[in-house]
Amino acid sequence: MSALASSVASLTIPQLRQGLEQRLFSAVELAQSALEFAQAENPKTNAYLHFCPERALAAAERVDRQLAAGEDPGPLAGVPIAVKDVIVTEGVRTTCGSRLLERYVPPYDATAVRRMEQAGGIILGKTNCDEFAMGSSNENSAFGPVRNPAALDRVPGGSSGGSAAAVAQGMAVVALGSDTGGSVRQPASFCGVVGVTPTYGRVSRYGLVAFASSLDHIGPFGRTVRDAALLLQTIAGRDECDATSAFAPVPDYVAQLDGNVAGRRIGLPREYFEGLASETGDLVMRGVELLKKLGCEVREISLPATRFAVPCYYIIATAEASSNLARYDGVRYTTRATADTLSDLYRATRGAGFGAECKRRIMLGTYVLSHGYYDAYYLKAQKVRALIAEDFRKAFTEVDAIVTPVSPSPAFKIGEKIDDPLEMYLSDIYTITGDLAGIPCMSVPCGKTAADLPVGMQILTRHFDETGMFRLADAFEKAGGFTG
Ligand code: GLN
Repeated sequence: MSALASSVASLTIPQLRQGLEQRLFSAVELAQSALEFAQAENPKTNAYLHFCPERALAAAERVDRQLAAGEDPGPLAGVPIAVKDVIVTEGVRTTCGSRLLERYVPPYDATAVRRMEQAGGIILGKTNCDEFAMGSSNENSAFGPVRNPAALDRVPGGSSGGSAAAVAQGMAVVALGSDTGGSVRQPASFCGVVGVTPTYGRVSRYGLVAFASSLDHIGPFGRTVRDAALLLQTIAGRDECDATSAFAPVPDYVAQLDGNVAGRRIGLPREYFEGLASETGDLVMRGVELLKKLGCEVREISLPATRFAVPCYYIIATAEASSNLARYDGVRYTTRATADTLSDLYRATRGAGFGAECKRRIMLGTYVLSHGYYDAYYLKAQKVRALIAEDFRKAFTEVDAIVTPVSPSPAFKIGEKIDDPLEMYLSDIYTITGDLAGIPCMSVPCGKTAADLPVGMQILTRHFDETGMFRLADAFEKAGGFTG
């Protein structure tokens, strides 16, 4: 393997940029090396489902041409990127981790994908994930689980486990994931990288295959806060193709990473720390001590509706999923089963195509939306969702940011929770509230357990205050030395 190939594994975006500008390597050499490294390393973890070398090299050639002509190739020039396989890519298979879409080749690009390439980014391939982004361990993928690069017998988290693992393993510099209930932050925490869920509507969902539309977000992974922030500012902003994308201008997040967080008021919600007498709790509390040393004022707060969050999420998310997944009927995009009648075609296609978790959620979602139960479950869950959002609104009149654990435990063993879906759902307790409220939240590494397993700390801020969130995370990262 070339020296460049193995060093791609640890480079950050500013370092890549410098190398390109000083002509230490060309974008094509960089793309070839990154592909060489990723293809050699991938069998260890199964993080990538497929690569797209032709597309990557064509994008790299564009960057080289621009550099040669003295033009600015954009902020992501030459940056090797992995994309979760629930985000559509023109001409490149997009499977959603499902047998149903095993051969689906989309005819268009997601807005986030298009914007990354316009900014000079190089997409290496598509990453493994839980089927239709439903899961917390990546074990629900139809194409085999992903292994955690930090401990190969453990899960990388889910559902964006492939993207988190690819970045942690050096097989991409940054990656895109999607987060509906924690699917960017939890795998980031398990793999020891930075993972960001922006404000709902900050990034266009056009081309993100829908799971639960009112909760779905595209979010970036990076090995540093700066890299993740740069990726977010490249893909964020209003998009005519997604009516829920926000008009609010996109700040230059990176320019505001000045390390000064003195006087920032941090809230620790009582409900998130109760009963967390564990290594995870200790590492997060050590992180809080570090924030105090940086001059932050820390106080206890309360978010009383937290205890309703898991049932609330699993009602709303399954209801929306049951409706969104109705389109996979064997008539349009999917692999089609053979049958004599239309209803047999639906039944056979869906029966063979969906995995157990998708079927469970379609049944749950259909049930909570059904006549007679709609008011008792779905409508009530929507009211609880408003209470959760109101808790955060009130808290943010007292504090500037909220700090919590990301997950109750570090990465668990492959197979450990797969037979107990309820146990798996309960482990989403700290991440789903941010999605239900639609506020920005992220995981930043805060250390490792005695067994060397990474643990992340969650930071949440007000709607559209990604700037405040990144400033805090960046200062924390620099002071703690936990990443890049
Ligand atoms: N673990 C959660 C679920 O299974 C979150 C998934 C996600 O964020 N996409 O629904």
